[in-house]
Amino acid sequence: MVIRSKLPNVGTTIFTVMTQMANEYNAINLSQGFPDFQCSEKLISLVEKYMRKGYNQYAPMQGVMSLREIISRKTEDLYGYKFDPENEITITAGGTQAIYTAITTFIKEDDEVIVFEPAYDSYIPSILVNGGHPIYVPLKYPDYQIDWDEVKKMINARTRMIILNTPQNPTGTIFSNNDMEMLTKLVSSTKIMIMSDEVYEHIVFDGNIHQSISRYPKLVERSIIISSFGKTFHTTGWKMGYCLAPESIMKEFRKIHQYLVFSVNTPVQYAVAEFLEDKNEYLSLSSFYQEKRDYFLDLLKGSKYKFTASKGTYFQTLDYSSISDERDKDFAVRLTKENGVASTPVSVFYHDNLNLKILRFCFAKSKETLEKAVEKLLKVGK
Ligand code: GLN
Repeated sequence: MVIRSKLPNVGTTIFTVMTQMANEYNAINLSQGFPDFQCSEKLISLVEKYMRKGYNQYAPMQGVMSLREIISRKTEDLYGYKFDPENEITITAGGTQAIYTAITTFIKEDDEVIVFEPAYDSYIPSILVNGGHPIYVPLKYPDYQIDWDEVKKMINARTRMIILNTPQNPTGTIFSNNDMEMLTKLVSSTKIMIMSDEVYEHIVFDGNIHQSISRYPKLVERSIIISSFGKTFHTTGWKMGYCLAPESIMKEFRKIHQYLVFSVNTPVQYAVAEFLEDKNEYLSLSSFYQEKRDYFLDLLKGSKYKFTASKGTYFQTLDYSSISDERDKDFAVRLTKENGVASTPVSVFYHDNLNLKILRFCFAKSKETLEKAVEKLLKVGK
């Protein structure tokens, strides 16, 4: 067979590669982002309750209404914008499906999409498979700020979309109110859409607030916002998320969504809807993870790893340039095989594999796991 690949230059996602390697070498896996602790017993009981009640057949294509209603209320309470549950909210099989569906819905052959780098790994393949062209704008190292003049230079008549991600994976940076205002100005007289990946919306540190697009009605008009329950409720394996957009945008999104997955897990949707009634379940998440971030960084204090504390997400980047000259991929592999800690090399999030000697570590782990991992990390280069 002659295979004509639609993604000839794409390999296996780094998260699968590193997790497999971690398992093979029995290393502590701080690479792929997922908690190593259990989700809420209450949530598990709710799923069981709805399974036993008989909610085991197809959910509505758009998602269970009670879940869409409570998402609408949560978004309005937190950010001030009310999305209509009927026409402006859709439940998806996780953030990745929502991202792929959104890009597939709106990106056609030769459309340009502005992506900030380092970029989460699913954006570029989703653009390429649809014949679009990613246009790369670097977040300015080392504090990963956006240079809005640079963005302006990249905009032309073919620019169809800008992809935002705040809190940002892999850098842990967050957007400011000023960023959102610059963005508003920049797109105001254009037809550019925004896809805003906000899956870490409830993990923001040091008293900062999450700059959701839904705080900015002028941006909402042209946006599709993506979020995820996996990150919020420690259930990444349940693959459940949602997206928010004005009716005209959502109508098109659903045309693709209905043929990609049709609908998603019914009992989990009912369970999450009921679980969301207790606001504390998501409002306590920032302090829960800030404690873990601080614990991880305290253990690393005085070591040769250089860092600035992550501002959001459950990721922390570490600069190992005082320890080794190796490329980050080689160093990450050696760290996994020889030292027993798996991480994610940040160069994989750049189209040209820019090597700044930085690794990303997931700190959504128990204290014991973090202690063991740091103990191993401190032995490197000794
Ligand atoms: N979002 C997770 C991370 O960045 C991984 C998700 C996945 O493996 N597809 O590690």
